[in-house]
Amino acid sequence: MGGLSEYRRMRDFSRTGEPAGDPDGKARRRSLRFVIQKHAASHLHFDLRLELDGVMKSWAVPKGPSLDPAIKRLAMQVEDHPVEYNAFEGTIPKGQYGGGTVMLWDRGTYTPDEARSGEPPDAAVRRGLKAGKLSFTFHGERLHGSFALVRTSGRSGGRSGSRGGRSDKPQWLLIKHRDDTARPGSDVTEEIATSVESGRTMDEIADDADRVWQSNRGNTKPAPDRQTAGPTVVADAMPPMKPTPARTLPDDGEWTWEPWRGGTRVMAFATPDAARLLDERGRDATHRNRPIAEELASLAGRLGTPFVAEGELFEEDGEAMLALSDLLLHGDSVLAAEPWRVRREALRAMLQRRRLDRLQRPDVADSPEAALRSAAARGWPGVLARREDAPYTPGEKSGALLRITR
Ligand code: MN
Repeated sequence: MGGLSEYRRMRDFSRTGEPAGDPDGKARRRSLRFVIQKHAASHLHFDLRLELDGVMKSWAVPKGPSLDPAIKRLAMQVEDHPVEYNAFEGTIPKGQYGGGTVMLWDRGTYTPDEARSGEPPDAAVRRGLKAGKLSFTFHGERLHGSFALVRTSGRSGGRSGSRGGRSDKPQWLLIKHRDDTARPGSDVTEEIATSVESGRTMDEIADDADRVWQSNRGNTKPAPDRQTAGPTVVADAMPPMKPTPARTLPDDGEWTWEPWRGGTRVMAFATPDAARLLDERGRDATHRNRPIAEELASLAGRLGTPFVAEGELFEEDGEAMLALSDLLLHGDSVLAAEPWRVRREALRAMLQRRRLDRLQRPDVADSPEAALRSAAARGWPGVLARREDAPYTPGEKSGALLRITR
């Protein structure tokens, strides 16, 4: 199969021609996300980030949220942050903006409490922030229930502004509403001292040098051959392997079995900066699946390395999802020439303990009967059989990948 150097050159595959924005508006119809990061900068604080209009509106909350309605916590509005930063936990080098250790303390979605009839959630949030009073409910892994953000000084909105100094940043108070999630007398930031993603303490995160965020070039480990990586290669050098239709089960060799959902098989090229999706015919499927591409880039950011994975696009409850099925490149490891059993283990290890939203882990069965039964029960058209000792052959029908319809 084609040279490994070609794969290595694909390191920077996604830096070309990324259309901006969200042309079909999927992100707007989605639930609004929130994240709270605990940040040991020059002063320990919590960063509250609420998704709105494609960015994370952000507040630095020195003492963090409280579940005691009698306690009002100062929340200083800061610059909007990119959504990609939501997944970040690790260490930002000293001297860069936001230097210090960052822990993912909580995350989930939030809803405005005072949406008018027929008013979309984002419009209600925009209105509340402009008016200087936003009531909203956290649906987090740790925080639940209703809170208020109340502006006490400073101008509204004002993301540019000619004055620009810190002093005219709006100041707000973060207050817990009295509801059945209120806990008078409690101190939730004291009670919960570990990461919602990794379970690590701040010290453990600080000690892990693997995940260092370079704010100007993404979250990547230095690659030894980065200097000689060569020119950017377009991603359509490597479309997914094509399955061979089959009516009967193979009778030789070791195989694994996975559902075929009747969706579009794609190759995903992910770096911490961006991701691209390419279908079996080499067509770009990124623009129709922007939230998935964003999550792939976010995953590459959390891993600290680019990767190339095969997957299947499908819809679940009206939401576009990507089921990951094979792994061809992971950082400096070129896996395509390795047998499937090695790639499968590498994919499993890569996704271990990672929180996934629109991405799905591989669903591999060891018997065809179980996979076919499961496909039938879910109304899927069949299964894919992958030969355990075979390498990956991009764009080809090799006989090592069979599509068996029920
Ligand atoms: Mn911060």
